[in-house]
Amino acid sequence: MTDCIFCKIANGAIPSNKIFEDDDVLVFHDIHPVAPVHFLVVPKVHITSLAHADEAQQALLGKLLLVGARVARELGLADGFRTIVNTGAGGGQTVFHLHVHVLGGPGLSPRIAEVVTH
Ligand code: AMP
Ligand code: ZN
Repeated sequence: MTDCIFCKIANGAIPSNKIFEDDDVLVFHDIHPVAPVHFLVVPKVHITSLAHADEAQQALLGKLLLVGARVARELGLADGFRTIVNTGAGGGQTVFHLHVHVLGGPGLSPRIAEVVTH
């Protein structure tokens, strides 16, 4: 997808604040963080949304979560963190390339409807 911003980040055409990369996934800090730690785990292959993923991508979907948990641990989120996958316009998705948000750090709300408490 040549006009997809996360494909462009994945292929290096536009820069990101990268945390981790391998053949399958890229992890980078969200440009507009809504928590003290807020990064995105993105598959390098273009998948429009979770609703567009298929069974052949089952292992890749699991890898997104495992990589997110490992990076969260490496960034010091020992108390825990929140993972969010917005899907479709009605689900709040604004970038139509599948990504897992990982949010954490002091002040994270215990309620999912509210990201931070202050
Ligand atoms: P969503 O609303 O779930 O589709 O989330 C898209 C996320 O991508 C938002 O949190 C944006 O702040 C983030 N974002 C958009 N463009 C960039 C970028 N160039 N680098 C890093 N994060 C981005
Ligand atoms: Zn894409």
